[in-house]
Amino acid sequence: MANQPIFILPEGTERYSKRDALRMNITAAKILENIVRTTLGPKGMDKMLVNSMGDVTVTNDGATILREMDIAQPAARMLVEIAKKQEDIVGDGTTSVVVIAGELLSKAQKLLEDGIATSVVIRGFRNACAKAIEILNDIAIDGNDRDTLKSVAITAMSGKGSDYAKEQLADLVVDAALRIEDEGKVDIDSINIQRISGDAVEDSFLAEGIIMDKAPLSKAMPTEVNDAKIALLKYPIELKEINTDSKIDITSPDQFEAFLANEEEMVKDLVNTIIESGANVVFCQKGIDDMAEHYLNKAGIMAYKRVKKSDMERIQKATGAKLLTDINDLNEDVLGSAGKIYVKKIFDHKLTFIEECDNPKATSIVLRGSTRYVTEQINRALDDALGVVAATIEDGKVLVGGGACEIELIKQLRDYGDSVSGREQLAILAYAEALEVIPRTLIENAGLDSINLIADLKAAHEDSKAMGINVFTGKVVDMKEAGVLEPLKVKVQALQSSGEAAEMILRIDDMIAARDALN
Ligand code: ADP
Repeated sequence: MANQPIFILPEGTERYSKRDALRMNITAAKILENIVRTTLGPKGMDKMLVNSMGDVTVTNDGATILREMDIAQPAARMLVEIAKKQEDIVGDGTTSVVVIAGELLSKAQKLLEDGIATSVVIRGFRNACAKAIEILNDIAIDGNDRDTLKSVAITAMSGKGSDYAKEQLADLVVDAALRIEDEGKVDIDSINIQRISGDAVEDSFLAEGIIMDKAPLSKAMPTEVNDAKIALLKYPIELKEINTDSKIDITSPDQFEAFLANEEEMVKDLVNTIIESGANVVFCQKGIDDMAEHYLNKAGIMAYKRVKKSDMERIQKATGAKLLTDINDLNEDVLGSAGKIYVKKIFDHKLTFIEECDNPKATSIVLRGSTRYVTEQINRALDDALGVVAATIEDGKVLVGGGACEIELIKQLRDYGDSVSGREQLAILAYAEALEVIPRTLIENAGLDSINLIADLKAAHEDSKAMGINVFTGKVVDMKEAGVLEPLKVKVQALQSSGEAAEMILRIDDMIAARDALN
């Protein structure tokens, strides 16, 4: 009885304690780092991702790669979540987060093997991270003028498939962001990017208002309406479907005619409600049947059916129309307004332009490109650029890129580490060393010699904080003069996110997994 084993976990549960758990999780994080690090910077390579439906995505955008990969290992999944948070908060810097976190964990593993306690490593990393953010704030450059914003946009887009049109795309991004700026805040979600494949990227343009990839449901409807009064309906303009269980007894031709006439009256009533409200344009998220189309045509109303939810929301925001789930609530007061709505054909797409909206800030970018892959890739680059330009407008502070600020951080963190006594000093120095991964990876991805160039960079930082690597020429140059600039907010958030991810993984000293959960 005394030696009877006691089972508290179900049979088949896997348990990894202390070092085993840590080793597994650190290895998973490092694998993830290795997957994304080859994409870092303008010379990064692309990944081809194929999902279970066979859809192909070619990208070197860290956020997209992490989103599309179906990661199973729990610690790696945690890291992905934190990197995604980076994308949500500041719109860029995802690859850097994963790469720095992986490197911090490698350094931590070494310290732990040398007998330093996990709590000391975590404390050291935390202090080093706080100091690094202080240094970044210190070395940040003021600027949210147009030239700075354009440089920030170009830096974010470089290497993301849009380099040949970067000047023009950066102008589009900056113009769009400045257009919607409101008391220093930039809500980039209100910029609508409409992709149209079948032409050159250089033909992309910025338009005021909303653009929708749809035409009215009938050719007989007006293709241009001035002084538009807009009804937004999430209510079908069609006959209610007759319940399949119901039975209708029709015994004479008269009864049949009466039944049809009654149906017609019901549809007529629906259209009359629209006419009486004063609406001359209807966007319907549901269907509109042929009979309703006929009456809407007769009334000269421009109508759209099965409009996407996202378009409905944008139209609602831009025109002030209320989205109705019941047509009986339709009246003059819930209509939105726009100075002009018209249909225009671009390449082989019929687009609807909603201009002079109630909200003058509504803005769209029409993004052109030869194929769907090209427009998707450039759309992702534009999203990143919009994110960093918005962050710069809001914050007004930028940092030099190309590894320059990481080299400066290493230098200043080393001095800081020397001032701290005890074993924590080793953790602070390890944190500083980990940051070298960014310039080293930028250099390696460009096929250059990292040992010599890192040494050159460090030497150059004795004189100037702005020296970074020009990955195209392999020369150490002034990154401010080269226009390689990034928002302070993105770098600060990247340090916070990577530190948070490393700490979360280091804190796990026991992994208990249900049967087959890790296979
Ligand atoms: P992330 O997802 O982390 O933003 P990117 O692939 O966009 O990753 O690469 C960002 C890195 O590339 C930053 O460290 C930035 O400083 C660097 N970078 C961008 N443009 C240049 C350039 N022209 N020369 C050197 N480095 C650059």
